[in-house]
Amino acid sequence: ADQLPLWEWDSTAGLGSDRSQQQQQHRAVQPVRKGFIDSVGNTPLIRLNKVSELTGCEIYGKAEFLNPGGSVKDRAALYIIKDAEEKGILKPGGVIVEGTAGNTGIGLALVANAKGYKTVIVIPKTQSQEKKDMLRIAGATLVEVPAVPYKNPNNYVRYSGRLAEALAQSHPGGAIWGNQFDNVANRRAHYETTGPEIWEQTGGRIDGFVCAIGTGGTLAGVGKYLKEKNPNVRIGMADPMGACMYNYYASGVLESSGNSISEGIGQGRVTANLEGWGLPARDGGVVDFWCQVTDEEALPLVYDLLKEEGFCMGGSTGINIGGAVKLAKELGPGHTIVTILCDLGTRYQGKIFNVDFLKSKNLPYPQWLEPGFKDID
Ligand code: PMP
Repeated sequence: ADQLPLWEWDSTAGLGSDRSQQQQQHRAVQPVRKGFIDSVGNTPLIRLNKVSELTGCEIYGKAEFLNPGGSVKDRAALYIIKDAEEKGILKPGGVIVEGTAGNTGIGLALVANAKGYKTVIVIPKTQSQEKKDMLRIAGATLVEVPAVPYKNPNNYVRYSGRLAEALAQSHPGGAIWGNQFDNVANRRAHYETTGPEIWEQTGGRIDGFVCAIGTGGTLAGVGKYLKEKNPNVRIGMADPMGACMYNYYASGVLESSGNSISEGIGQGRVTANLEGWGLPARDGGVVDFWCQVTDEEALPLVYDLLKEEGFCMGGSTGINIGGAVKLAKELGPGHTIVTILCDLGTRYQGKIFNVDFLKSKNLPYPQWLEPGFKDID
């Protein structure tokens, strides 16, 4: 009786039923998607078996890596572009300029291709080669800048803002700045799509949601929606080391310690997407659980998920699952917790799946990752 409803289809068509009948049911609720834009969202919710058994909770991952651009950021990219179109500031032939760790840029570039815009993407040099390659393949004009803190005017976000302003003047088609950190079209994507999907997929039987903060759009949008549906749903923030948000949520001080190799997450300021919605109750927000997750905790979760369950995920997903395990321990067995599977590990092959890189960072890695490792004689 405690099983999840399997989408809208008859639950008797679930596990153990005749396969062809199951496929037929599946087809009935998966209409043809009318192109790229229509393919964003409506991702599956997947039970993470090992951590569920470990904690006695039901821990589910929202499979955002199955978005057509390969990450959770496709949703924000689509909303940012739609918002600019609706406001009349993005016109045919226009350019979208954005500062991004990569995934938002990939989403923007692909949505832009589908809609006939151009993209200029400003990315810190430190981000993975795989993401930069994907951006080039997608047709974005790439501007690589040194990784410097936000207070530095040459920080990738601030640099992209200035570039957008200049292009808006000089480019015949005009230009807009995506501004994902402070453009609340980002969190609206998650409030209007990700949150409702999670609520429906769990049939409202959800006790907790947890994820890390990049822009804060996912945490704020999903958290706000779920809290409105049921104020008892715990909304959790999982912070990588080196970010400032854990200390901010715990004591109001933006202070960081340590370091993380995770990409796309780790914030040092209160973004507009976090304002209100994504903050603790004292700041008018809905977040009521926070924790830090180290790379040493997160990476083994990523490796086990690949080796024991078959899902190859990026580092931020490891931080998210670590947060879900910590929230599960706080709530105790028997609860249902949802987190985000942000993107595929293939976007970071040269880093979190590269022994030389891991050794250089003094991080743990499983024996099977060694080049030349043979699993069978
Ligand atoms: N994981 C990855 C891999 C990302 O690229 C991002 C977005 N930068 C996030 C997590 C965080 O999502 P959000 O911006 O909604 O906080």
